Amino acid sequence: MTSYEQVLAALPAEIVVSDKDIIDGYTTDFRKKYRGESPALLRPRSTEEVALIVKLCDQHKVPLIPVGGNTGYCGGATPDESGQQLLISLQRMNKIREVDADNLSITVDAGCILSEVHQAAEQVNLMFPLSLGSQQSCQIGGNISTNAGGVSAVRYGITRDLVLGLEVVLPDGQILSNLSPLRKDNRGYALHQLLIGAEGSLGIVTGASLRLFLPPVNRVTAFLAISGINDLMPLLAKAQQYTGEAVTSFEYISGASLDLLFAGKPELRRPVQTSSKHFVLIEAATSSPVLAMDQAIEAFFEDGMSEEMILDGVIATSEQQRQDFWNLREHIPEGEVLNGGSVKHDVSVRISDMARFIELGSDLVNRYGQGARLSVYGHVGDGNVHFNVLAPEGVKAAAFLEEVSAEVSPCIYDLVAKFDGSFSAEYGLGQDKLSLDQSYGDPVKRRLMGRIKNVLDPKAVMNPGKVVGNQICDPS
Ligand SMILES: Cc1cc2nc3c(=O)[nH]c(=O)nc-3n(C[C@H](O)[C@H](O)[C@H](O)COP(=O)(O)OP(=O)(O)OC[C@H]3O[C@@H](n4cnc5c(N)ncnc54)[C@H](O)[C@@H]3O)c2cc1C
Repeated sequence: MTSYEQVLAALPAEIVVSDKDIIDGYTTDFRKKYRGESPALLRPRSTEEVALIVKLCDQHKVPLIPVGGNTGYCGGATPDESGQQLLISLQRMNKIREVDADNLSITVDAGCILSEVHQAAEQVNLMFPLSLGSQQSCQIGGNISTNAGGVSAVRYGITRDLVLGLEVVLPDGQILSNLSPLRKDNRGYALHQLLIGAEGSLGIVTGASLRLFLPPVNRVTAFLAISGINDLMPLLAKAQQYTGEAVTSFEYISGASLDLLFAGKPELRRPVQTSSKHFVLIEAATSSPVLAMDQAIEAFFEDGMSEEMILDGVIATSEQQRQDFWNLREHIPEGEVLNGGSVKHDVSVRISDMARFIELGSDLVNRYGQGARLSVYGHVGDGNVHFNVLAPEGVKAAAFLEEVSAEVSPCIYDLVAKFDGSFSAEYGLGQDKLSLDQSYGDPVKRRLMGRIKNVLDPKAVMNPGKVVGNQICDPS
């Protein structure tokens, strides 16, 4: 028997799926960039079963790849081509374990879909603020393992800020149970923080205690056409001032990104008719029934117009109109796909550097010429922008984009480095960004990560080849 066959033979049959059609749904990443093979998908029903699986894999040195909703953008949940790596999905571990409304906390199985966590919070008139375009399929374990950002981070922070405690099966099969939803707990190292963003390389997250918030009762959403890129971040500062820091989302959408979408989907309607190269989707909310957010946004709007920073704008007057604004934002990546796809750069810089970065980055792409098109959009309120390059219309995209990757991407990443920014703002490293980490990452940090990996997972069983790559760490 091969090593993985010994593992499978020792497991309860009900948790082993060997049907190739089912497994095939897990061997390709969301963007269809990576493809692997696996002999089995394991679907444990409890933390104890996860621990049993991990112990057996450790004993037989069988690599184990955790898969959440498989919506990640870096190939982090995709097995390699060896056909020797086992997949583990927590999809059957999807219980809400406890809601403590007075403590503003919820404790859940890590296999819960993000939208299920939202619903559980809503049932007690509270809110879990992590919000992503993939929330109907991504799992909270995947969100934690990628330290997901999303559209509400301006106000509520990223996943790291929303986790109070974790339950984790460590690579040797021990269960680290650190689920108590305390606001203050300084009993030594905050080990759960190490697991957040670890992309399955240090253990399997099986449960999480999360922070809840009062839901917004006064929420205003507006779609703005703005004068120039230099007005972008001053407008955020102005909106924060007028709303008393109640801005929850501040999304930039370039006119070019919108044009790509409208060219492919003529049935969509433009929220504002005034033409501009720059648009903003802004949302501000308060949970107070007496604070008038609409008045605050109107005053911000008037001020922005009088200073000629805002050219035009629409404030949503119904939930449907609000949804329409957000639908446009969420469909921007689809606009790129409809136009042959793009070379993506998910980067971050200081919010104070954002406008200058977009300006200099656009100059770079314009200098490259050859008709390359830009699609720039993203969560700029957090200093995060998707700076994507497309082929010109009518040109074979694949070959063109390959050249862009080779010739333009390094210049864009050099620019990010000059701004002391990050070449991976939201999605992690997975297998996609390992070479970028070699070029732009901090070697001291990389070595330290390798050493931590070696200590916790000396047999490299947990998601090998991701985040820290396949480096055998020099223990010196
Ligand atoms: C339409 C769309 C919009 C998106 N918008 C955003 C956005 O705004 N912000 C953002 O940050 N991301 C976004 N993403 C990317 C993606 O949804 C997030 O990275 C998400 O957190 C991944 O969750 P998942 O459950 O799909 O994880 P997967 O893709 O299945 O896995 C991601 C990584 O986590 C590991 N993992 C999964 N579950 C566990 C577990 N229980 N224990 C240990 N490791 C685990 C996997 O091994 C892998 O390395 C978007 C994706 C799509 C398709």
